[in-house]
Amino acid sequence: MQVVTEDQQCIGYADINTQAPIRARLLWRGTDWPGDEAFIEERLLAAIERRLRLGYTFQACGIRVVNGEGDDCSGLVVDAFGTSLVIDVYSRGMRDRLPVIEAFFRERLPHMHIYTRCGEDAARREGIDPIDPVEGTAVFCEQAVRYEITFGAGQKTGFYLDQRDNRRLVAQWARGRTVLDLFSYHGAFALSALANGAESALAVDSSSKALEVAMANATANGLELETCCGDVFDIFDDLVSLGPFDMVICDPPKLAPGKRDRNKALKAYRHLIDRSLKATDDQGLLLVASCSHAIDHEDLRTILKQQAKSQGCLLDVIAITGHPSDHPWPVGFTTGRYLSAIIVEKRGT
Ligand code: SAH
Repeated sequence: MQVVTEDQQCIGYADINTQAPIRARLLWRGTDWPGDEAFIEERLLAAIERRLRLGYTFQACGIRVVNGEGDDCSGLVVDAFGTSLVIDVYSRGMRDRLPVIEAFFRERLPHMHIYTRCGEDAARREGIDPIDPVEGTAVFCEQAVRYEITFGAGQKTGFYLDQRDNRRLVAQWARGRTVLDLFSYHGAFALSALANGAESALAVDSSSKALEVAMANATANGLELETCCGDVFDIFDDLVSLGPFDMVICDPPKLAPGKRDRNKALKAYRHLIDRSLKATDDQGLLLVASCSHAIDHEDLRTILKQQAKSQGCLLDVIAITGHPSDHPWPVGFTTGRYLSAIIVEKRGT
């Protein structure tokens, strides 16, 4: 639908859903709307070409092919894992366009198996029916680990590609270290560390299904992973007593879905960072991540500074990172920069 200013100047075209919290998703700037089909085809092609320009390949690895607003496709994410493609729609407009989107990928990437999903939360927000992907598996590699994941039962598109660059750093610094991977999902941080010389790795998650996949992948790769199923908030003191660890990864789920959840989330991060620091050995590395745009690097840095002071240790920032380049975001749309990670090295206690 065309979007106009009060004095009838055309701004562009948007998907409108008056039932949803986001009522208008701007898709096109200017007056020359090419029509729905041509629009989506042009955008998808541009997204693929951009990935190729950035050096990504559609072969053995996992890549984000379309990243919502970052590819001018609000309501649509597409991830590729080896020869599997997962189309995730989270707006009414993109759900309506699904037949065209699927046809596009079938024609352009005929060797790929296509899976489609529309998560329950998004479906509720948009007033549309959810779609569970049909059961299927994907095989792909990252950081010298070969993953086999199952769709249908997994979270999001099946794997958290947004932490890929951070897992590369963890792999780079893993040799000889003992690793604690908190909120591990499929244990991808732990497995990256083990495949790159870590002495041991313990993956902790509340989802037994996620840990089963982690364990199956560890075994298939000849890696000795330890797992622990539980609520990190409940068992953190026990985990601390198993340490100290040379590397701790703390990657909780979204703790602040919106700005009004900020204070609660900051409190949770104070707790998590306090315990994570206690679990980290002298000269050990701690990676803390936030996947809520409402909690950013500066929030994490401030809490790290406060907790280090109260524990009497020093921390040096080794890296400040976010999501990789296949997760672009428009420069004016800071909500699109949702992943903040900070890696510190501990000195003294
Ligand atoms: N680090 C992972 C992604 C983590 S996503 C990766 O690189 O792939 C967040 C994970 O936290 C999910 O797997 C979810 O099952 C888990 N989780 C959510 N709440 C939890 C809790 N209270 N305790 C332990 N795990 C939790």
